[in-house]
Amino acid sequence: MAETASPASVSYRVSVADPVGPGELHYIRDAVVRVAGEQITDLVPIERYRGDDDLVELDGILTPGLVDVHCHWVQHHVRGQFRSDLLDWLQNHIWPEERALGCHETAVAHARRFFADTVTAGTTLGMAYSSAHTAALQPAFEAAIGDWLIGNVIMPTGGPDELCRASVATSDEVAALIERYGISHYPITPRFALNCDTGLLDELGRLAQAYGAWVQTHLAESAREIEAVAEAFPQAQDYTDVYDRAGLLTPRSVLGHCIHLSEREYRCLARRGSWIAHCPSSNEALDSGRMDLAAVRRHGIPFALGSDVAAGPSHSMLHVMQRFLHQHRIAGEAVTATEALYRATAAGAQCLGRGGRAGRLAPGHRADFVLMPGPAPADTAEAWLNELVSGTAAELETRPQGTWIGGKRRV
Ligand SMILES: [Zn+2]
Repeated sequence: MAETASPASVSYRVSVADPVGPGELHYIRDAVVRVAGEQITDLVPIERYRGDDDLVELDGILTPGLVDVHCHWVQHHVRGQFRSDLLDWLQNHIWPEERALGCHETAVAHARRFFADTVTAGTTLGMAYSSAHTAALQPAFEAAIGDWLIGNVIMPTGGPDELCRASVATSDEVAALIERYGISHYPITPRFALNCDTGLLDELGRLAQAYGAWVQTHLAESAREIEAVAEAFPQAQDYTDVYDRAGLLTPRSVLGHCIHLSEREYRCLARRGSWIAHCPSSNEALDSGRMDLAAVRRHGIPFALGSDVAAGPSHSMLHVMQRFLHQHRIAGEAVTATEALYRATAAGAQCLGRGGRAGRLAPGHRADFVLMPGPAPADTAEAWLNELVSGTAAELETRPQGTWIGGKRRV
């Protein structure tokens, strides 16, 4: 992997595509992007450029760095290999794989592979689930390329003995990890309701509130899961209420999937300001169903995109954008490639508390960006974006031509 030192400042002459909202793409065919240190300090059309820097010409279109708000780095090596209903998939395939993360060398090797692949695919910011082993966190943070939040899954019950024994089981252990890694990088990560009892969820909720910590977990992914949750938590009104009554739903909570929710649950999420990590490629692969985009919009619930590797068959956010467009278009929902890019950049940065600092090509933002292959001259930006996300997962994983993080070219 190439890593170049960042000079004090550098100005690039390049096309830029910056999604400023779900329906608005800021596209400049011929622009100058000035980077000083880790930040973008200026971005103007060439005709308004007044500086006297030597311009470094880049052939292609810059987009903001891609953001993945939901993935499991410890499953990356088996991405897309298994397909079955969620609960069978976990028990028969994923939990046996995650046992291997108890080995330090395995954790180091898997972490290096994951982050080398994600930066090649253009991802510069994300939030990931680790395995139950707290010792696997350090290799992950050491291998991380870009800005990552990484949490060990908390699963002291409802899984295979070996993983349950490896898991933390008290909020004191989790508090020590928050202190060690900091709230900007360590999310509290109950794997899902079925892996924790009410007492522990309550403790984690209190901890989340006390620290203002990020929380990531899964919600309402499959019908069988929801039935099992109803049986395990008879006192809760529904699955969402299991988390809500524990105090786990805040604007810093990121809930994977949210496919099968009632009107009451949508209202609850909207009231709490919690985020949905929408993972369309995973939902297709496990045949989990389609997130009700119209309902999410109607309730004003914020959402961003996640790959959910390894249920999602690819870590490429371009692939996730493609499946987002496909899944909702065939259901008759109006979605644009501009929105797909927005959900995989600026919205993701907001979701992870980096809004205003990352996820955009704009002065004052961290210089995280990706050089994508350019268009034919007659293309509109929206047509170009649709073309950008076409192709196989393998093609999309290596489509970016370069990735910069904090002003440094990393690949
Ligand atoms: Zn997941």
